[in-house]
Order: sequence, then structure tokens, then C-alpha cells
Amino acid sequence: MTTKAHDRLFHTLIWAARSAIVLLMVSVAVIVDTASTERFRSDVRQEWQSRIDDLSLKLQGTILQNIQTVWGLAANVSVNPNIGEARFQELAAVIFGLAPELRNIGLAPDFVIRHIYPLKDNEAAIGLDLTSQSLSEEQINRLLETERAIFSGPIDLVQGGQGLAARIPIFETGSRDFWGVISVILDLPRLYEAVNLGSATTDGAIALSMSTDPEDSDGIFFGTRDANWKQPVQASLNMPGVTWTLFAQPRSGWPDHPEFPWLIRGTLILITLLATVVTFWLTRLLLKDRQMQQRFWGLFELAPIGIGLYNARSMTLLRANKSFKRIVGTGADSLDCFENAYDQNGNRLPKGFGVMEKLTDKVQFSGQEAYIQGPEGELRPLLLHGLKLLDTHDGKPIIWLIAEDITEQKKVDRMKSEFISTVSHELRTPLTSISGSLGLLVHDAAGKLPDKASHLANIAYRNSKQLTFLINDLLDIEKLIAGKMVFQMESHRVHDIVPECIENIENYAAEHSVSLQVGELADVLIQADRRRLSQALDNLLSNAIKFSPKGSEVWVFTRQSGQTVRICVQDRGNGIEPKFQAMIFQKFSQVDASDRRSRGGTGLGLAITRELMTRMGGNVAFESTPGEGSTFWLEVQASTGHTEWQERV
Ligand code: ADP
Repeated sequence: MTTKAHDRLFHTLIWAARSAIVLLMVSVAVIVDTASTERFRSDVRQEWQSRIDDLSLKLQGTILQNIQTVWGLAANVSVNPNIGEARFQELAAVIFGLAPELRNIGLAPDFVIRHIYPLKDNEAAIGLDLTSQSLSEEQINRLLETERAIFSGPIDLVQGGQGLAARIPIFETGSRDFWGVISVILDLPRLYEAVNLGSATTDGAIALSMSTDPEDSDGIFFGTRDANWKQPVQASLNMPGVTWTLFAQPRSGWPDHPEFPWLIRGTLILITLLATVVTFWLTRLLLKDRQMQQRFWGLFELAPIGIGLYNARSMTLLRANKSFKRIVGTGADSLDCFENAYDQNGNRLPKGFGVMEKLTDKVQFSGQEAYIQGPEGELRPLLLHGLKLLDTHDGKPIIWLIAEDITEQKKVDRMKSEFISTVSHELRTPLTSISGSLGLLVHDAAGKLPDKASHLANIAYRNSKQLTFLINDLLDIEKLIAGKMVFQMESHRVHDIVPECIENIENYAAEHSVSLQVGELADVLIQADRRRLSQALDNLLSNAIKFSPKGSEVWVFTRQSGQTVRICVQDRGNGIEPKFQAMIFQKFSQVDASDRRSRGGTGLGLAITRELMTRMGGNVAFESTPGEGSTFWLEVQASTGHTEWQERV
């Protein structure tokens, strides 16, 4: 898939994710809103339902309480069927006192009313046959079968108002023959009042109906007849012979939504908006991140220097740009390829580039130079920089390597060196004769010169010597770089070399009013080319003297650790600024250009020293504290084999 197609797919995916999240949030908000409205509605209905359940129970309870009282009279008659008027009136009066909702009590042997209480205004009922008007055949059969009270109503009363009639059967004690019934009329308005039915629902409509359909207004005998009923809550009152239904609903109908619907809706809208903003923000970051990645990727891919990423554990290549593969070659797949490195003369370096070694204690190194073999066997110079990091993704160590092909730079360097060396060679012969002649003049070999001429000849002689040093240094470094310098590696005693060098430079120290002190010298044999080691030590000594204040001391001593011997030169000079420390071994580097004029020197001494030491398998290094002084040392290997000196001992 091309990058463009990838891009399009990525953008589509981002927009799909954004739309999906917005859609999801909106759906969740709608569902939550609907559910909360539904819950609110059901809560309101529940509350109304429990209100009318309560009312219906109370009403039914009051009716049964009244009837229960009348059962006392029934028991009395069943024991004493020939009850007289006086006894009936007496008992009925007591029952009336106990059951306040009773309108009248009639005693009807064989369904014909013979006694009635209160007699006043009810005389017309005496002699009324209940079977002819009030009780149906079916009711009578039920009464006889169940031997329990049977209700009918509501009935419109002659005296006004409505009542509920209850007929209680009486069977004679002993024979269990049917005797007749007690007919009781309960006053409905008084019943309603007793349970507070009228005022129970001031905020809504209530109706008591004989029908289970609230729309059937003929069935309604109490409450609002013309209410616009919409799914009212209902409770039924079941008594033998009578089934009533109680309906109720809020006056303004069932609420559609909670009282403050915008409170919850506002919160939901806010959450949805917030989630949308966060989603857009996060995905924008993702897009930006990708954009950045692409930019860096372009930079990475197009960089003319090689960049490679390695897994530090498996040492395998994870990613590399084209330049890296071109520069390092096919071996780039593993860090091992940097083990086969060579110096400029084609000698194999025992530790290779030492990538892993350098990154053991440090997190980075830079400017590591060596040659590797190119595809056609040619030596290719590389400059390597490395950085070890912990991968933010999985915490594993990774190594970034930057490789520069410095073939061109080396070519130019070589041309420069060759030019310098040619010029130096051409200059050396005439300069030797000029310097020699001036020396003769200065030392009065051609007769005593006048003072003025002697002064001028001295200046010319000093400068010609300085020029000779420079030419010699230039030729030395050229020889070293070109690998033309021959080294004769032999075992030597430190004890022999160090004092000899000190002796040679003592005059120079005296000129600078610096005293040379020798500290502890290890009694060991070292492997070196005596002339070249002395040349290196001379360089360190002359620098230490040159950069020491008048009257100070320069110490020379050795330190040994295992097979490694360090010959140290310590001064109490101004030390070396940290920013200059990294380039001190480069050719022509001097802290201050005025050094050349004020203290002499070419800026090549340390560069030559390093080359000499490297060629002898040793090293030169230093530590310095600005303002306090420096300690430079030459590191050489102690000899392991038998030596002349050992044999002598
Ligand atoms: P030069 O011939 O100028 O001494 P070197 O390569 O020997 O060249 O030294 C390079 C520079 O390093 C010197 O010019 C000086 O600035 C600094 N340097 C070398 N040795 C010392 C030292 N012992 N104390 C202070 N600075 C030093």
C-alpha cells in the first residue's frame, strides 16, 4: 500500500472513530434520558396506585366491620327464632350504636320483613317480600349455599341518598333449618366520609364504579364522572355479590417528564459535548503525532548520514535509513559488523569499533573513527556516534548509531598532508643551513658581531629554530598518518627512560624557572620504541613546563594497575578549560592563539603524542582542573616475557 493510500485510510479511520464516539454518546444520552423519564412516570403511577389501594382496603374494611356487628343479631335469632319486637328493637339499638354507618336493620323470616329498626320513616318496609324486589333467584341460592352474607348495590334509597344492602342468612340452631335473613342497609355517603374518600385526592380525579371500564360513566356512582380518563390506576373491591372498581389519576393527566427535565438533559448534553471535545482533541493529537512521525521519517530516510537503530540485547538491526545501509554495507543487520574494524594502515583493531564496550558505562559516545571493509574489499573510513536508550514502548534497551562516510574528508586530509609534507621537505634543507649559519654567527664563529647585529642575529636564530621545530613536527605527523614511521618495540625499564628525558629538558625548565621533581617510579619493564616514547614524554614535559607559573614544580611519577603502567606528568598551571578538553589532541589546537606567540609551540605536540602512543599500543590521556593544574599521562603495557634486565638480576 502506498503512503498516500495509508494516509487516506488513517484519516478515514480517525473520522470513523470520531463519528462512532459521537453517535455512541448521543445514543447513550437519549437512552439515559428516556429511562429516567420512564422511571419518573412509573414512580408517579406507583404512588397513585398505593394511594387508591389504601383507600379501597379502608372502604372494604369499614363495610365488613359494620356487617360483623350485625352477625351478633343473627346469632341471637338463630338461638331464639321467635324473637319479639321489643327484644329486636333492644338488640338493634345496641348494634346501631356499634356500627355508625348502618342506615337500618330489618329482620325478614322467610325473606319477608317483619321487624325494622329504626321504625320511624321505615314503616313502609314492614311486610316487604325481598324475593319479589330486592333478591334475585341466583342471590337466594348463593345465600343458602354459602350461608354467608350477600351484598347488592348501590341502591337508591327512598329516603334519599344511596346505600349498600347486605343480607345475612339465619339458620336455626340445632335443626339448621333456614329461618330467614337480616337485611341491612349501609349508608354510602357516611361510608365515603368514614374513609375520607372525597378529600383523599384533592390533586386528581377519583371515581367508584360498578364497571371495570372507566369510560362507562353509567357505572360510576361516586366521584368524577366526566374526567378524561387515560390509563387511570385502579383497585377493585370484591364482596360477595358486588364488585366495584376504584379509579384515580392526576388532575392534569400523567406527567410526560420530570419536573426539571432540562437539568438531567443539560448534564447529558454537557457530558456528550465534553466527550466529543476530548475525542476530537485526542484524535487531533494522534493526527499531529502521525504528521510529526512522517516529517521525521522523511528526514530520517533522506538524511545523507547513516542512521541505524539496534536492539541492544540481540544486537540486531531494527531500522535503518538508506544511507546507513549504503555506508555500512550488507553486514549492517547485526552490530557484530562493527567488530571488524581497521586502522588507517589496514591493521585490524583488536576491539573493533567497541560499540558495546563504549556504551556499557556511558549512554553515548561520539566521533569514533575507524575503517571497515567495503563491498569490494576496500577500506572505508567511518565516523561513528552512538546513543543507548531505553525504549519507551517496551522498556528494552536500544542503540542509535549514526555513521558518516568520511572517505572524501580523508582524501582531502591526505592531500593536505602530502602538500604540507612536500613543502616541509623542500623547506627543511635550506632551513637547516640557514639555522646552522645563524648559529655560527651567534656563537661568534665568524668573528665578534657588533651588539646591534648580534641582537638581530639572535632573534633570527631563535625564530629559525622555532621554524625547524614546526617543520620537524609537520614531517613527523605526516609520517605517522601515512604509516611511514617505523617502530622498534623492545622492553625498556621505566627507570632508564624517565630520568634521561628529565635530564634532557632540565635546561628548558630552568629557563622557565620551573623545578622538575621525580616521584615514585615503578620498577617495571615496558614494551615501547624508546626514541618515540621519549619523544612523547618530552612533549608532555615541555607543555607542563611551558604552562606552569614561575617557581612552581612539575612532578613526574608512575602508577601501575595490573599490566598497565602510566607515566604521569603533573603541573600546577592554569589547567585546561572543559570546552577545550575535547579537542586538545587535534592537530594545531591551542587554547589561545596567542599561546603560539607567547609560549611558542605548534599545536601539534599532543596530536603527535597521541599518534605515537596509539602506534605503540598505548594511549595518552589527562585530567585537569581549571585554575589548579593538569596531569597528563602516557599509558603503556608492562612486558610479560623475559627481559635483559630481569636476566641481569
Ligand atoms: P603546543 O605545541 O602548542 O604545546 P600541544 O598539542 O602540545 O601544542 O598542546 C596543545 C594545547 O594544549 C596547548 O597550546 C595548550 O593550550 C594546551 N595544553 C597542553 N598541555 C597543557 C598543560 N600542561 N597545561 C595547560 N595547557 C596545556
